[in-house]
Amino acid sequence: MRKLFKGVGASPGIVIGKAFTLQAEDFVVLKVPLKDSEVGAEVKKFNAAVELTKREIREIELKVNRDMGSKHSNIFSAHLMILEDPAMTTEVAKQIRETKLNSEFVFHSAVTRFTDSIAKIDDEYLRERANDIRDIGRRVLRNIIGKGRETLADITDESIVFSRDLTPSDTVMLRRDKVIGFCTDMGGKTSHTAIMARALEIPAVVALSTVSTQIKTGDPVIVDGTEGIVIVNPSEDDLRLYEKKIGKFIQEEAQLAKLKDFPSETLDGHVIELAANIEIQDELPLVSRHGATGIGLYRTEFLFLNRPDLPNEDEQFRAYKSAAEAALPRSVIIRTLDVGGDKLLSNLGLPKEENPFLGLRAIRLCLSRPEIFKTQLRAILRASTLENIKIMFPMISSVEELRQAMAVYAEVREDLEKKGVEFDKDLELGAMIEIPSAAVTADVLAKEVDFFSIGTNDLIQYTLAIDRVNEKLAYMYNPLHPSILRSIKRIASAAHAEGKWVGMCGEMASDTAFTALLIGLGMDELSTAPILVPEVKKVIRTIKMEDARAIASAVLSMNDINAVKKYMKSINTGACKFCS
Ligand code: PEP
Ligand code: MG
Repeated sequence: MRKLFKGVGASPGIVIGKAFTLQAEDFVVLKVPLKDSEVGAEVKKFNAAVELTKREIREIELKVNRDMGSKHSNIFSAHLMILEDPAMTTEVAKQIRETKLNSEFVFHSAVTRFTDSIAKIDDEYLRERANDIRDIGRRVLRNIIGKGRETLADITDESIVFSRDLTPSDTVMLRRDKVIGFCTDMGGKTSHTAIMARALEIPAVVALSTVSTQIKTGDPVIVDGTEGIVIVNPSEDDLRLYEKKIGKFIQEEAQLAKLKDFPSETLDGHVIELAANIEIQDELPLVSRHGATGIGLYRTEFLFLNRPDLPNEDEQFRAYKSAAEAALPRSVIIRTLDVGGDKLLSNLGLPKEENPFLGLRAIRLCLSRPEIFKTQLRAILRASTLENIKIMFPMISSVEELRQAMAVYAEVREDLEKKGVEFDKDLELGAMIEIPSAAVTADVLAKEVDFFSIGTNDLIQYTLAIDRVNEKLAYMYNPLHPSILRSIKRIASAAHAEGKWVGMCGEMASDTAFTALLIGLGMDELSTAPILVPEVKKVIRTIKMEDARAIASAVLSMNDINAVKKYMKSINTGACKFCS
């Protein structure tokens, strides 16, 4: 049956293909009384499932040991020991015989009783063990019931992945030759999963509520990542319509591509730097291919994800050097490590936090782990000999914190100088303004840095107190809120008053409905996903600075978001997703 779902377009483009579903595991365990004659076979079924699970765990252990080392495979040896513990298995077999109930019910009850009792004990170690036992419990149940869970590694044909959620690190591992699109129930446009989709240039739709439970592997689907639409079992009419749309999309892309070598300037000759945001090395060729004026945000944390160890100084040096080369003759702004929030590093051994977005994230983590921070700063400085690297610190919340980061930077510089290592002595330093406390004190911060880059993804999240990855609150996450517009103006004025420049690298910068407004608010630079650079450039080239300023002053005079939305809708000829 044809079904249409509306979510949030996370990465533009249209694909037609077959679904591959990664279902969240949700076993329904029924209680089934057995006849006497069935009990023996049930015990055998249970024992076979345990044996199969042990074999699976041994295989995983071997693979992880081979690929990532024993430090990471140890957990599987511990899982194996739990399964080999007779208290766990012989006890269940005994209970199947005594209660004459089906094995999955008896086993599931035993695991639940056990994990519930240890989860109540206030002991981090035991709570972790409860998680291990739950994990093993799921594996054994899967084998009793005979239901396998597919993983991203099982994708062998070109597919569109459907899942409740994908972590940013899952997304990095998507095979681009096989995954032609993806859709998730959760997430928002500024989640790092969506950002990765744009980096990989894979059409994607997020915030689709329950779509992953309403679709099966193999179902035909249309995914429109531009409009945020998913059609399962499309009709002949849908297919005709979307094939036409694909044709139009390709044509428009070809038109936009022609703008590549035209300058990013307004009709009256004001140059607006239009840079690209980069997450992975593979994106580097896209910078010049899409006609960006350099790299406005290099999210270095993606070098650190999906690995058991941390990248060493030389590896980082090579990555930063190649970014600097790709950006030539323009510059690359390398943002120091911003992990935490929805980008979790398993290789740092950090404890789980209740509110990771308000926790040990970005510069806070770097200041608490100076060895990691210094290694990164050394690698960046060593890579700066082409004199086109700038550094910025993420999540600065106060001038003291900024000074602390700068002191570490000064220490690293001094050390390199003493050792006679070459680096760019005039390298510019900037701060990301993405926390309300930094926005409010931007006048103070502006005295200390060479530039600001506004991170609207977080600035909106923290100003409006809305989790940027919570799809249920997506309707409240709106850049047009007067508090956001006033903050942007304040930040820009504070920078300009000190003779510093200000850019924007949050997703707001890539929404063409806002381009004139942002220029009017004083942005000297906009930085977007490479794929979105041509669209923004096209709009910049139709704007007059005096009109842009009039738009900015009109919205700044408005007190409520509805008035701003109405006004923005009236002046936008194209789509304005945040205007209604
Ligand atoms: C932002 O917060 O707007 C930003 C650019 O940084 P990130 O999305 O990586 O948090
Ligand atoms: Mg941010």
